[in-house]
Amino acid sequence: MSEKQTLGFQAEVKQLLQLMIHSLYSNKEIFLRELISNASDASDKLRFEAINNASLFENDPELQIQVSFDKEARTITIADNGIGMSKADAIEHLGTIAKSGTKEFFGKLSGDQQKDAAMIGQFGVGFYSGFIVADRITVETRRAGLPADQAVRWESEGAGDFSVEDIVKEGRGTSITLHLREGEDEFLSAWKLKSVIRTYSDHISLPIKMQKEEWDEEKKEQVLKDELETINQASALWARSKSEITPEQYDEFYKHVSHDYSAPLTHTHNRVEGRSEYTQLLYIPARAPFDMWDRNKRGGIKLYVKRVFIMDDAEQLMPVYLRFVKGVIDSNDLPLNVSREILQESRDIKAIREGSTKRVLGMLEDLANADGDDAKEKQDKYATFWKEFGQVLKEGVGEDNANKERIAKLLRFASTHNDSDAQNVSLADYLSRAKEGQDKIYYVTAESYATAKNSPHLEIFRKKGVEVLLLTDRVDEWMLSFLNDFEGKELASVAKGGLDLGELEDEAEKKQHEETQTEFKDLVEKMKAALTDKAKDVRVTFRLTDSPACLVADEHDLSGNLARMLKAAGQ
Ligand code: ADP
Ligand code: MG
Repeated sequence: MSEKQTLGFQAEVKQLLQLMIHSLYSNKEIFLRELISNASDASDKLRFEAINNASLFENDPELQIQVSFDKEARTITIADNGIGMSKADAIEHLGTIAKSGTKEFFGKLSGDQQKDAAMIGQFGVGFYSGFIVADRITVETRRAGLPADQAVRWESEGAGDFSVEDIVKEGRGTSITLHLREGEDEFLSAWKLKSVIRTYSDHISLPIKMQKEEWDEEKKEQVLKDELETINQASALWARSKSEITPEQYDEFYKHVSHDYSAPLTHTHNRVEGRSEYTQLLYIPARAPFDMWDRNKRGGIKLYVKRVFIMDDAEQLMPVYLRFVKGVIDSNDLPLNVSREILQESRDIKAIREGSTKRVLGMLEDLANADGDDAKEKQDKYATFWKEFGQVLKEGVGEDNANKERIAKLLRFASTHNDSDAQNVSLADYLSRAKEGQDKIYYVTAESYATAKNSPHLEIFRKKGVEVLLLTDRVDEWMLSFLNDFEGKELASVAKGGLDLGELEDEAEKKQHEETQTEFKDLVEKMKAALTDKAKDVRVTFRLTDSPACLVADEHDLSGNLARMLKAAGQ
């Protein structure tokens, strides 16, 4: 048996520990939810691995979580018989943070404790939250399938380091003991622990058990019995009927599946029957994760087959442009031993993806088009959604041809109409304000709102009172190459080609323009000659009212903005 080893935490863990203990103190009971959530994940993982290797269950097939406390020792213990950890697992998982974007996140912290406190909740603290109430944590764990003498004890006081040593552990799984800080004795009560479990962890699908208590008439106090009782409902939340689930339970379940700390914006919960049978419980988060632009990031959907957890982040279940959606899909048709490779080819998965895409778009439409009593609340939620995820949704215009029209209706833009950089004008809003005879939807693209707003291309439109959409997101140019028209009206750049204002120009103006063209013919010829290798053409323009000249792109050329972007990207 090896000696006890002491190892240092990853720098980010140290930062997290310091910050968390101070900033999350007002919400300290979340530690229990985090540790129970991990125990539940560990049981899911065991059940999944056991599909192909039933011996992992050893002689202990009933997965459960036990919570207990010891008043004398002032400890709380959360024990599971899930997958457990090997020594290497413990060193890695309880010494570092595996989340993508961790470095960037900690780079963003300001050092201002209050500001950082708000952010740390969003990051998610997981296992380390135990240190909010404990000044020492002891983890004893054995990975399923390893012999009893290859278990490990991990221990730390939550400062700079932790120790690991080999131990013998008969039962598989993990037991986590919190040695409570001075003053945290309120948690040494069955009543308190039960109430926290019911609030935060009721949705957990396996039983959470505690020792039963009974009133002793002689001693005049509660005494512990040798029996266990189940504290939570212990059935998969998504399998219950909607009417039995409270909004709080939906929110807590979201926090469990998403590892997010804030409540979601909205959810959709459905049992789908027919050729492919499945249940979906899908959420729209209120905030974008740090790694939303990480191309390797997978989706946020957990796949279950008949209540058995199969995998996290099953990216085939959602199109890439809906990668922000979190939740659970539980299929009745897929085989239990389904792999990522099989998922790619599966027709059931294709049906689920199409069905789920429609549900998500429906959920967004419900917010965007709300007109009932709660219209204001829903529209505010849509504005939040758009701010956080609008740029991602725009990818759908190019990626999902079948739903392009629906997505186009969900788009929101800044516009000359409301003179603000807020993106809150829909294409339908724009058309409802179109001038008599206006047959196009006009837009300008630029690097920033200020540049777009001050573009000389807008002058003639201002003069004529014609609204122009101001597009400044990186993805806009790309998106527009897939969006030629909306409800029969062409989308037209104000910066491209010979600007034809169609019926917006009257006869007198047209005649005057022709005369001016003739008048300036010589000058234009001279300028063309002087600019041969710089400009493709020189024309008299009527689109300007204040500026003397502007650059335009040819109808089929890259726009100036896109050309600049490609150049910046080194292409
Ligand atoms: P997260 O749950 O978001 O991955 P945590 O900080 O809660 O982050 O946990 C870190 C990791 O530690 C988990 O991903 C898991 O690998 C491991 N772990 C924590 N608790 C347990 C447990 N009870 N059984 C097995 N592994 C665990
Ligand atoms: Mg966790």
